[in-house]
Amino acid sequence: MRETEMHDHRRLGRELELFHADPLSGAGLPVWLPAGAAARHSVEEYVRELERRAGYQHVYSPPLGKRELFALSGHLGYFADDMFPVLRLSADDEFVLRPALCPHHALIYRARGRSYRELPLRIAELGGMYRPERSGVLGGLSRVRAISLNDAHNFCPPEQVGAEVAEVLELIRVAHAALGVRPAGFRLSLRGPAEKYVGDDEQWRRAEELLRAALGGLPYVEAPGEAAFYGPKIDIQVRDAAGRESTLATIQLDFDKPARFDLSYADRRGRRARPVMVHRSLVGSMERLFAYLIEVHAGAFPAWYAPVQVHVLPVGPEQVAAAEAFRRDCVLAGLRAELAVDGSLGARIREAARRRVPYAAVLGAREVAAGQVALRLRDGRSVEPMSAPDALRLIGGIVADRSADLLP
Ligand SMILES: [Zn+2]
Repeated sequence: MRETEMHDHRRLGRELELFHADPLSGAGLPVWLPAGAAARHSVEEYVRELERRAGYQHVYSPPLGKRELFALSGHLGYFADDMFPVLRLSADDEFVLRPALCPHHALIYRARGRSYRELPLRIAELGGMYRPERSGVLGGLSRVRAISLNDAHNFCPPEQVGAEVAEVLELIRVAHAALGVRPAGFRLSLRGPAEKYVGDDEQWRRAEELLRAALGGLPYVEAPGEAAFYGPKIDIQVRDAAGRESTLATIQLDFDKPARFDLSYADRRGRRARPVMVHRSLVGSMERLFAYLIEVHAGAFPAWYAPVQVHVLPVGPEQVAAAEAFRRDCVLAGLRAELAVDGSLGARIREAARRRVPYAAVLGAREVAAGQVALRLRDGRSVEPMSAPDALRLIGGIVADRSADLLP
C-alpha cells in the first residue's frame, strides 16, 4: 500500500473507530464515535484552557440566526454563495444557518457600553457553523458541511492591533507544538482582482501593513485573491498525507464589521472610538484539525489525547481482579483505561498496538504478588515492572505535561 493511502485519515478513522460517515446522515456530515470524541474532548479542553490563561472569555451563541443579522454583517451580500439557502418560517421570519460566528460576537460586544479599559476584549467560542460545500469535494473530516470552529474575535483600539496579532501568533505556535502540528508555512492572503470586497483602499492598505509588520522576520508567501471579503489575513498552512495544502490557523483584520455594527468604546477622554476586530483561529475547525492530526501521527496520538491511554492486560484469570482494580485506579486518576481479557497475551498486546493505545499494563502472577505492573509501549519498548502507584505517576505525568514521548 502506498504511504499516502496508509496514512489517509478516512482509512485510519474507520480502522480506529474515530468517526463514521453514514449516507443517511448526509454527505459532509460525519458523526464522531466515542474514540474520536474522547480525543477531540481532550483537545478542546486544552485549547479552552490555553485561551483562558491568555485572557480570553468564552461564550455560547446559536448556529441559527435571523436573516437581518447576516444582511447587516455583509455575509448575505458578499458571501451568499458559501451559505445554505435562507430558511423561511413566515414572510417576516427568516433564518440563516450561520457561515461564521463573527455576527454573534459583534452582538456580544455591543450588549453593553465598553470602555478602553476592557480592551483588548477577547471573545472566544468553539461554535457550530455551516457551509454548503459541493458534494464532489466532501470526504472524511477534511471538508464538511457542519463545522465546529475554534474561533475568537479580539476587539482592540487600532494602536493595539500589532501587539494583539503578535500575541495570537505566539499562541498558535504553542498550541501547534503541543498537538504535534507541523506548519508547512505562513501565507499573507491579499485581495485579488476578481472577487468582491468591502471597505476602502486605505483600510486595506493599513491592515496589510499591520500584518506584514506582525510577520516580521517570518518567511511567508503572498496569496492574492485569498483574503476574506472584509480584510487581509495571515494563514498558517499545513500539508496532508497526499501533499495537499490547506489552512489550519488564521488571523484576519477587519475594519468593516465594527462600522457595520456601530461598535464603539469610550476612550481615555470619554469620546466614542471605533475598535478593530481581529478574527482568529488557533487550530481551525475540529474536523479539519483531526483530519490532519490523524494523518500526521498515523493514528498514534500523543498520550494526552489518545482515545484510550491504557490497556490493562491480566496474564491469566487469576489476575483479573487485580487488573480491574488497576484499571479503576487509572480511571480515578483521570486516565482513559480499558481491561482486555480475551485471547492470548501476545494477541492482546498486538491489539493494543494496532489501536495505537500508548500503554499496555501487563499483570502476571509475579507482578500481582509484588503489587507491580509491567508497562509495554505501543512502539514496542517495554519498561521494568514498577509499583502500581509509580506506573500511574509515570503515565499521569506524561499526560499532564502533554509530552510527545511516552516516557520521561
Ligand atoms: Zn470571524
